Amino acid sequence: MRDAAKAPVLKDEDEPPLNRDAMNPVSAETNSTSETTNAHVAAGANAPLEKIALETYVPPAKPSLVGLSRAEIAEQLGAIGVAPAQRKMRVQQLWHWIYVRGAKSFAEMTSISKEMRAQLDQHLTVARPEVVAEQVSNDGTRKWLLRLPSGDSIEKAHEVECVYIPETDRGTLCVSSQVGCTLNCSFCHTGTQRLVRNLTAGEIVGQIMVARDRLNDWAHRVTPTGSRLVTNVVMMGMGEPLYNFEAVRDALLIVADNEGIGISRRRITLSTSGVVPNIIRTGDEIGVMLAISLHAVRDELRNELVPLNRKYPIAELLQACRDYPGSSNARRITFEYVMLKGVNDSLDDAKLLVKMLKGIPAKINLIPFNPWPGTRYECSDWDQIEKFSEYIFNAGYSSPVRTPRGRDILAACGQLKSETEKLSARERQALRAMAMTD
Ligand code: SAH
Ligand code: SF4
Repeated sequence: MRDAAKAPVLKDEDEPPLNRDAMNPVSAETNSTSETTNAHVAAGANAPLEKIALETYVPPAKPSLVGLSRAEIAEQLGAIGVAPAQRKMRVQQLWHWIYVRGAKSFAEMTSISKEMRAQLDQHLTVARPEVVAEQVSNDGTRKWLLRLPSGDSIEKAHEVECVYIPETDRGTLCVSSQVGCTLNCSFCHTGTQRLVRNLTAGEIVGQIMVARDRLNDWAHRVTPTGSRLVTNVVMMGMGEPLYNFEAVRDALLIVADNEGIGISRRRITLSTSGVVPNIIRTGDEIGVMLAISLHAVRDELRNELVPLNRKYPIAELLQACRDYPGSSNARRITFEYVMLKGVNDSLDDAKLLVKMLKGIPAKINLIPFNPWPGTRYECSDWDQIEKFSEYIFNAGYSSPVRTPRGRDILAACGQLKSETEKLSARERQALRAMAMTD
């Protein structure tokens, strides 16, 4: 869900709803290219493909354990003098308190001795990103604006959003992977922004922690069914997750860990604009569901909409999908298609779409374009979306149209942030006061 249209709801029963910014420097392998630039990009046929991060992450003096693997937690414990024989048990206790109980401080961890808690507190934290604003939509959609530290003391702190979309049978959280985005898709608001940095694994896991905090959705919450509110995660917030591969992988492995947050891989969807080399790695190293931002069926048009297509054209992208480990009729790949009036919404496009997906276990999600100030695109007319959808349906694909949610709070990644940036200092303060930071 990028910008307004990034908080949509899937109407397909089997499909988690989908939606759509880092301190680890962008991976040298995937991002080293002479085409990189920091410039604010007007995407188009000649637009640069990729931007480079302006910042690298500067860790706080007291590191947070959130987002660390068990081995990394054990290392931190070693560094503060916890005896080797104790470390495994301590890691287990900490993991449970952090990811099952949602503890926000060591003081709450009553199964750990007072002395040990004091020692932990002296050197470490279980901090997650700070919530600076919370908005609740009429339809129950919630959006949190989170503040992340800047690596540069002169720069103000960065802000990313996280959106929660409740439905009757599930609750989906749309999570960001970068501040800004490496890429510059011409129809996407985030694409027009600079890439500031990759999020750390802790900042990615931290978004799910914040949502569970705000929704009071940890293990102690008593519900008739015992079920959680956040049941699905989609990497569809700000940023291109496959240009922040290691942090996204480490974070999602923690989110899926069944001794912790425990959201199964089938309920986690990673959306990519098509970073081909990392698509296979996603299947091999993370094993989550895949969504591809296709948006065009001809290379010429896709080069304009998704300039990364000049590096990884449609044929290569589809081959990576055919090779995606673990895809099957039960675990189909989602193809996202944003409906742009007079650009990609003809019936010929629909026909070609169906033809090119033959042989790939696929579903298609049509996303009404969510306009933003200054965009040159318009959303397709509703009856055109219906005709397009009908053609796809008749060809045997369920073609849910993802309806944007939380319109009254601009609940689409990118937009709360943009709106907030326009506010006066007083208005910002009022927004902050609104945020519940218990
Ligand atoms: N960078 C990744 C994930 C975030 S974008 C990706 O591109 O897949 C999540 C989805 O929202 C993508 O399909 C993206 O193309 C789409 N999107 C971006 N801006 C949009 C807009 N203004 N209206 C509708 N969909 C948009
Ligand atoms: Fe937007 Fe494209 Fe970046 Fe996705 S990859 S967030 S669509 S600019």
